[in-house]
Amino acid sequence: MSKFWSKSLRQLDPYLPGEQPKNNLFLKLNTNENPYGPSPRVLSAINLANTENLRLYPDPDSVDLRDAIGKYYNIDASNIFVGNGSDEILAFIFQGFLSNSTPILFPNITYSFYPVYCKLFQIIFQSIPLNSNFEIELNDYLIPNGGIIFPNPNAPTGIPMQLRKIDKFLKSNNDSVVVIDEAYVDFGTESSIKLLKKYDNLIITQSLSKSRSLAGMRIGCAFASESIIEGLNRIKNSFNSYPIDRLAQIAGTLAFKDETYFQLTTNKIIKARQFLIDEMTNMGFNSLPSGANFIFTKHKVVSAELIFKELREKDILVRFFDSPNSINNFIRITIGTQEQMEELINKIKTIV
Ligand code: PMP
Repeated sequence: MSKFWSKSLRQLDPYLPGEQPKNNLFLKLNTNENPYGPSPRVLSAINLANTENLRLYPDPDSVDLRDAIGKYYNIDASNIFVGNGSDEILAFIFQGFLSNSTPILFPNITYSFYPVYCKLFQIIFQSIPLNSNFEIELNDYLIPNGGIIFPNPNAPTGIPMQLRKIDKFLKSNNDSVVVIDEAYVDFGTESSIKLLKKYDNLIITQSLSKSRSLAGMRIGCAFASESIIEGLNRIKNSFNSYPIDRLAQIAGTLAFKDETYFQLTTNKIIKARQFLIDEMTNMGFNSLPSGANFIFTKHKVVSAELIFKELREKDILVRFFDSPNSINNFIRITIGTQEQMEELINKIKTIV
């Protein structure tokens, strides 16, 4: 901090991402990256685009990318927005659609970037407790609000919510924006995209960092009514006209076109998740149900902090949230390949 910092800068409370070690010595199961590389079609398209054309600015509207996403979901490109990671899109949404005089609502255990954006944009919020099964209870959100945001599946619990519950909730909450953060939706959770035509207050965000294995490229997308997308573009074009670079636009487009690779890798991850949950149960862990590429789990006896530290000593990184609420009993483990899960299990066996 220095005397040059503004008052609002002094008050910021930034998000702390999981550790990204400089070396490759660790088995990284801490930031929900995909264990498989991007589709080979993505990689060869990036190579082909790696030319002197990089001197030119990219398409500010990312038309090819939005068309490919639209084709995949069978929706019009006018209902699609793309951004530099879904985090950037979430920031735009907080600024443009969740800045109201009534508090916005989100779960008390959820993606920890939401309160960070609230500080940044000076948004008042109320956090709503999960129920005793760590689930989001949408009935508790039927109170006056300036907007609602929750991930589906929730993070870091991984618990998915059924579409029928979301549909029922949206019927009753139609005066404020409802944002569903679907960063992990492709790992067995039902997307709310099907509800888009029914509700003009619904915004859905997705990420290409997880199921499409492009965390290093920083691409996210959002789906909403045309007028909400128009609003997002207004913010984007007041901030940075070119958030998606040339290589990222090409990578994202091919990632949506190569459906076979996408299905193959996500199915392998879903299978490895079940294998891990079963093995963890045998070792005395209780895991929450997961519709994501991670599990949230706690041991009957051994503390999460100890397991986290011991695994780190053994070159495996998992995520431990050292927070005062009940989640400090849990560790979050990213699902890797079958072999990686076997290696993890063998090391956990020596700890518990
Ligand atoms: N939402 C949730 C719930 C997340 O866990 C993450 C990843 N940290 C994001 C959004 C952002 O993902 P990205 O910016 O990589 O698209």
